[in-house]
Amino acid sequence: MNKNAKKLSLTWQITIGLVLGIILGLLLQNHADIAVSYIKPIGTVYLNLIKMVVVPVVLLSIMQGIISLQDIRRVGSIGIKTVVYYTLTTALAVTVGLIFANVLNVGAGYILPVGELTYQASEAPSFIDTLVNIFPSNAFAPLVSATMLQVIVIAVFFGFGVILAGEKGKLAADIIDSFAEVSFRVMNLIIGMSSIGVFALITPVVASNGPAVLLPLLKVVLVAYTGYIVHILIVYSASVKVIGGMSPIRFFREMSRSMLFAFSSASSVGVLPFNLEATGKLGVRREISSFVLPLGATINMDGTAIYQGVCAIFIAQIFGIELIFAQQISIILTATLASIGTAGVPGSGMIMLAMVLQSVGLPLEGIALVAGIDRILDMGRTVVNITGDASCAVCVNAMEERREAHRAKKAAETPADHQP
Ligand code: ASP
Repeated sequence: MNKNAKKLSLTWQITIGLVLGIILGLLLQNHADIAVSYIKPIGTVYLNLIKMVVVPVVLLSIMQGIISLQDIRRVGSIGIKTVVYYTLTTALAVTVGLIFANVLNVGAGYILPVGELTYQASEAPSFIDTLVNIFPSNAFAPLVSATMLQVIVIAVFFGFGVILAGEKGKLAADIIDSFAEVSFRVMNLIIGMSSIGVFALITPVVASNGPAVLLPLLKVVLVAYTGYIVHILIVYSASVKVIGGMSPIRFFREMSRSMLFAFSSASSVGVLPFNLEATGKLGVRREISSFVLPLGATINMDGTAIYQGVCAIFIAQIFGIELIFAQQISIILTATLASIGTAGVPGSGMIMLAMVLQSVGLPLEGIALVAGIDRILDMGRTVVNITGDASCAVCVNAMEERREAHRAKKAAETPADHQP
C-alpha cells in the first residue's frame, strides 16, 4: 500500500511540475530569455542524465533477458510460443502507432522555430547500409557513442556467450544481474527527478512559443490513445478469441482491475500480482502464468511500442524532417527491440525513445517536448503493456491445452493401432 502511495505521489509531483512549468512559461512569455538562460539548463541536465543511463540499461537488461533464455529453453514450447507472440504483437503495435501517426499527421501544422531546440539534419543511410551498420566492428565504440542497435547486437552475442560458457559463465551472469539492478536503481533516481525535469523543460518551450505549443501535444495524446485503444480492441480481442477460444468480453471484464491499476501506477511490474490473479480467474494454469507474465512485464511492451512510433513521427514532423519508408521500417525494428529493453517501471519508455530517435537520426531534443506529457502517455501505454501480457498467457494456455489433448488422444489411439 505504501508503495502505491509513493507511486501516486510521483504522478502528482510530475503533474504539478508540468502545470507549474506551463504557468511559469505563460508568465515569462515577454521574458523568454530568462527561461532559456536559467531554467532550460536544468532541463538539459535532466535530458543528459536520461541519455547517460540509456546504454547501461539497454545493454544489461537485454543481456539479462538473453541469459534467462536458458530457462526459456527448458520450458521449451511455452517459451517459444511466448516469445513469438510477444515479438509479433509488439511489431504490430509499432506499425499501428506509425500508421495512425502518419494518417492523422500527428505533428503537422506546427514547425518548431529553428533555434529553439537546435538540430542539424543528417543524411539518411540506405536500407542495406542500415542493416550492415547494425553489426559493430568494435565492442566498445558503440557503447561510447550510444549507437543503440549496435549495443543490442553486442548484448545479444555476449548474452549467448554467457549461456554457452556454462558453469564458467556463471560469474559473468551474476555480475550482469547485479549491474542491471544497479542501472535500474540509477534509472529510478532519474525518473524520481522527472517533476523538476518536466518543469524545466516545458517552461522555456511555453515561454518562447506561447500556449500554441501545447496544442500539438494534445494531438500526440489523442493519436497515441487512439492507437492504444485500437490495438487493445482489435489485436487482443482477436487473439484471445481466435487463439485462446475465449470471449473478449469475459477477458476484459476480468482484466478491468489490472488495467485500472496499470493506469494509475504506470508500472507493469507493479501490476504483476493483479495480473496473476486475473489470469487465474480466466483459467490460465499457474505454471504458465507464472512464467509468461513476469517475462512479459520485463520484455513485452506493446503500448510503449505504439508510443514510440507515434512520437518518432511527431518529432520528425515538427522538425520538418521527412522519414522515408526504409527509415520507418527501421523504426519498427528498433522500437520492437527498444520496448523489449524497456523496464516495466514508470517513465522508462521515454528513456528508450532516445534509442528509437537515434536509430533514424532524429533529434533527441524532441524528447524535451513529449517529456512534459510523458506521464499521461505512460499511463495508457502501461495498460496496453499488461493487457498484452495477459492475452499472451490466455493464448499460450489454450495452445498448451490443445497440444496436451492432442497428445493424450494420440496416446489413447496408439495401442489400438498396434493391436493385431
Ligand atoms: N511504464 C511502462 C510500464 O511499466 C513502461 C514505459 O515507460 O513505457 O509498462
